Amino acid sequence: MLDNASLLIGIAFSSASLTVALLIGWLHARQQTYLVYGASGIGLVVLALLAMGIRDGRYDLVFQAVPFSMLLAGFALVYAGSRLFRDAKADLRPALLVGGTAIVATVTAFLLGYSGIGTILLNVGCAILMFLCGLEYWRGRDDTRVPMVTNAALYTLASLSFMACAAVLAIEGKWKLSAPPSNWAEDVNSILSLVGLTGIGAITLTLHHARAARLHRDEAHTDPLTGVLNRRALFDRIRETDSVSGLAVLMFDLDHFKQINDRLGHAQGDVVLQHFADVLSTQLRAEDIIARIGGEEFCVILPGLDREAARRAAEQIRLGFAALQIPIGDNGEIATVSAGLATGGTNETFSSVLRRADDALYKAKRAGRNQVQLAALQRVA
Ligand code: GH3
Ligand code: MG
Ligand code: MG
Repeated sequence: MLDNASLLIGIAFSSASLTVALLIGWLHARQQTYLVYGASGIGLVVLALLAMGIRDGRYDLVFQAVPFSMLLAGFALVYAGSRLFRDAKADLRPALLVGGTAIVATVTAFLLGYSGIGTILLNVGCAILMFLCGLEYWRGRDDTRVPMVTNAALYTLASLSFMACAAVLAIEGKWKLSAPPSNWAEDVNSILSLVGLTGIGAITLTLHHARAARLHRDEAHTDPLTGVLNRRALFDRIRETDSVSGLAVLMFDLDHFKQINDRLGHAQGDVVLQHFADVLSTQLRAEDIIARIGGEEFCVILPGLDREAARRAAEQIRLGFAALQIPIGDNGEIATVSAGLATGGTNETFSSVLRRADDALYKAKRAGRNQVQLAALQRVA
């Protein structure tokens, strides 16, 4: 079997490549700062491990205080990175507080000559930081469940192995050490660190890529002006072959929008579109689908609502938009919207309900605008 020093150097090399991989990840996505924290944290751990690998049995103040402070600072940075991974605006003070306290406590013990206690405190500090990292991934597990939970488990295992190192020394009453500790817990800790770091690194990069892919997909499905879904997303959500039986479909088209643009300018026209999208978002439920399918045309799908309930929802939206009292003319005219409603018949396709909702919308336009019209019920064949 390998001796502990070789293992430490092995871990250092595998971690160094991880640092490089995280940095390359960051170069491609500069706004993902958690990658920089992870990379610099693991970079510090690499330096600490190299120092511990070459100390050759020496356990004087330099070979204690320097690598152990770097190790704790490195893990504190990794913890800061984990917090940022879960929430880009996370408060980093807990990482500074835990890391700083652990470093001060550990170095103080070594300075006072209690190298055993210092080593115990180092291990407890590492255990707490690893546990906190695991907790971040556990708390964020709804994001991408399997990799997040696996990361949490790997951090917890690493944390337990650091606790075991501390416990063995404490149980044996080793308050002062003249050589680096050597026992089963140290061996388990080294092997788990090797497995854990590699696993955590690979999983973190996987999570990073999954997140980037989701971001791109969301961007491709979102209308940049209003933040609601775009046409493509609507047809992705409801496919032509899906059953639309009983599904309520609303088509909205802002009234005299050309005039709004002409009078207020295109930029102000954009603001009116945003106001209308806000009315839709605030009036509708989370399960409703809102999409901007054309310039000033919006389509809304209301799952589970019957014709009457859907008509009421459409009326509320129409009134909510008019209540904004957006002036569009010199004679007190305000911005309004017309709507058409159709509910899916048995064996009907999505495009057929859409067409009927659109027909109802044009009925509303012809009847004078600022109203909701219902499509005739589809005949059962
Ligand atoms: P109606 O009441 O019959 O619906 O009349 P309308 O003027 O609203 O209808 P029309 O379809 O003739 O005009 C729609 C206008 O919407 C024309 C186009 O310049 C404008 N438009 C399309 N996309 C945008 C956009 O993204 N921003 C702005 N400001 N205007 C847009
Ligand atoms: Mg139109
Ligand atoms: Mg219009």
